[in-house]
Amino acid sequence: MSVPWGPARVVMDLFTLYTVILFKGLALSVLWCAIWRLYSRHEAARHWMLANLAALAGGLVMVLETRAGPLSPAILGNTLVILGFFLNWTGLCRFFGRRAPWNATLISTLLALCVLIAFDDSRLMRNLVYALGQSVPLVLCLPLLVGARRHTGAPLALVSMLAVIAAIAVRYGGLVMHYAGELSDESYNAVLFVTLLTTIFGGFIWNFGFVLLVIERLHSEAHSLAVVDELTGLPNRRMFTARMEAEQELSAREGRGFALLLIDIDRFKTINDEYGHAAGDACLTHFSALVSGRLRQGDLLARLGGDEFCVLLSDTGIEPAAAIAGDLVELMGRNPLFYYGTTIPVTLSIGLAVWQPGHHASIAAMIEEADNALYLAKRRGRNRYALPEAAPRFVAPPSALRTVLRDR
Ligand code: GH3
Ligand code: MG
Repeated sequence: MSVPWGPARVVMDLFTLYTVILFKGLALSVLWCAIWRLYSRHEAARHWMLANLAALAGGLVMVLETRAGPLSPAILGNTLVILGFFLNWTGLCRFFGRRAPWNATLISTLLALCVLIAFDDSRLMRNLVYALGQSVPLVLCLPLLVGARRHTGAPLALVSMLAVIAAIAVRYGGLVMHYAGELSDESYNAVLFVTLLTTIFGGFIWNFGFVLLVIERLHSEAHSLAVVDELTGLPNRRMFTARMEAEQELSAREGRGFALLLIDIDRFKTINDEYGHAAGDACLTHFSALVSGRLRQGDLLARLGGDEFCVLLSDTGIEPAAAIAGDLVELMGRNPLFYYGTTIPVTLSIGLAVWQPGHHASIAAMIEEADNALYLAKRRGRNRYALPEAAPRFVAPPSALRTVLRDR
């Protein structure tokens, strides 16, 4: 079939279009195969590779079209294309951590195949199956993409899928009108080509959208690896240092101080030796959960390494900081670790330092001051907090100031 195309009357034919579908499937299959080989943990890439392989196989079969027997190349080819559309959906489900809807995919594809064989003579019916088989999986993708619309790739995929759904509807509407004699051959062929091209290029665009989603996911994973402690899930020293620098800048600009609590678990080596390294690990996660659940919004608890942690308290002076330190010591004392039937008492020592504009030469100097105070707390018998020796005295006992932590 050849069609006059646009004002210049460019002639296009279905063979050329099927060849374009074929090369699109090939190019995108190679892309997803490479992504899947590089990041095999990301199962969605495998689904999207299979989706494009199915489209590629469908294109191949249709290029060879000669109608013969119930399983003609058109039926087989279009069934493979429908399978490909459903695999886009299964991939998206996996990408967002859902189970792959294999049953729905296989049942729908088989159903499409059966209806195509049963209504082989009816062009209207065959095209209705193509239209539904392609648009239903795209419609199923939409809510997943709407839910992820803040990621750049999602709106791109969403818009291209909407355009393809519209193109499929227009194509089928055109066919019905053509059958009813309301659309000339020439107009119908123009509709056919515009909508087929929209479908092909829409497919390219939503695959680019999927690639962007994967890139964003990899980027956020790499960022987490760089700034999050693997065992406790707390920010690590790198993130803590960045926050300290930000606080220092804020303090210089707005003239307000902040406090630092340097926390070390007492006799942690003994816990490891007596109960095993796994119990030591459980002790670290127990501490993290307990303390992070009690800090105020905006405070930062980070693991510096080993059994050493720190808390950065924004906009906090020495008295409330000391109250918080006292509270944390008490909180830990009241909440031992229950580990496989054994109660393991855990205590903390905390050294405190407060940043005052103009008082400290650098962040390193402040950390050293907190470290000296921590050493003091250890020397005084552990299970307590200590202020830097040079810190200004305050009279209120910590217990009188315990309103600064979250409600119990
Ligand atoms: P102190 O009261 O003076 O702090 O005594 P301590 O036994 O706690 O001494 P220290 O802080 O030096 O001991 C830290 C120990 O923590 C040594 C190291 O084997 C252990 N450790 C470091 N990282 C981990 C970890 O990720 N898991 C476990 N289970 N142990 C760790
Ligand atoms: Mg220790």
